[in-house]
Amino acid sequence: MDADKLARALSGVLSLPITSKSDARTGITEFRLQGMSRPHGFSVMVTPLLSRVKAELRLDRLAADLLRVMGEAGYEKWLQVAQISRAYESLGAKFQILVNGTTVEVLGSQELDEGVQTFTCTGSLIRTSVDDSNTDVLAVTEALFSFIICLLPLDLDPDLESTAEIGSVDFSFASEGQSHSVLSTRYERSRANRAAAIAVHGSSCAVCQFSFDENYGDLARGYVEVHHLTPVSSMGGPRPVDPVTELVPLCANCHRMAHRRWPPYTPQELAEAREHRAPLWKS
Ligand SMILES: [Zn+2]
Ligand SMILES: [Zn+2]
Repeated sequence: MDADKLARALSGVLSLPITSKSDARTGITEFRLQGMSRPHGFSVMVTPLLSRVKAELRLDRLAADLLRVMGEAGYEKWLQVAQISRAYESLGAKFQILVNGTTVEVLGSQELDEGVQTFTCTGSLIRTSVDDSNTDVLAVTEALFSFIICLLPLDLDPDLESTAEIGSVDFSFASEGQSHSVLSTRYERSRANRAAAIAVHGSSCAVCQFSFDENYGDLARGYVEVHHLTPVSSMGGPRPVDPVTELVPLCANCHRMAHRRWPPYTPQELAEAREHRAPLWKS
């Protein structure tokens, strides 16, 4: 397993700088978020076995600040972590995510009243990639990163600001619609949501099938934009979003087109519009 290549793929899909270090003796690879240095950060330890890949989130010795910041995340963020874990579980992965000793699946908001004292996270996935693409290793590793990123202020990717502009540029709509559009674009700008959506749906555009990987090769590294499908008028307020049913990968062009209208055009409508397009050149 090429640890550097995996670190580049992870950095690409989460748009965060992630480094790797392999121990040839144990076969364990350690992934870390660059800039969050020991002993105040965390690492994801990955053990690729013959039949399965195991991964474990390991907090550094002095990760009190990290736990404090996680404790400041709203309850809704923890529900989102559970939702993202279900998305990866639909790919066959299994996770155990414990906060203060309780699994996130049954976590109640009162259990976070005293903040976060302990947070442990392990995952495993039966190996499926027969080639050296390591998509299984990547999936379980990025899931663990996503869980913790979801709870930290670095979940929103400022590079995707342009998508937020598209949604909020419509001043003619009522203020209610505005707040909904901000809400929906916030989900689209979430690194963790984006990674989960791409893991489940792939990185080709759902409307035109454009693949950044095929067209830009290594430059793209699984890049695609992610669009929020749920009619935003039905979203009462912040709530977890399901990457499997509510998020869809779109290329930059189709995403722009989707947001030309409010509420956005559906992928179906965009695909139909493309089918009826006039030929480029008439001889
Ligand atoms: Zn497209
Ligand atoms: Zn969108």
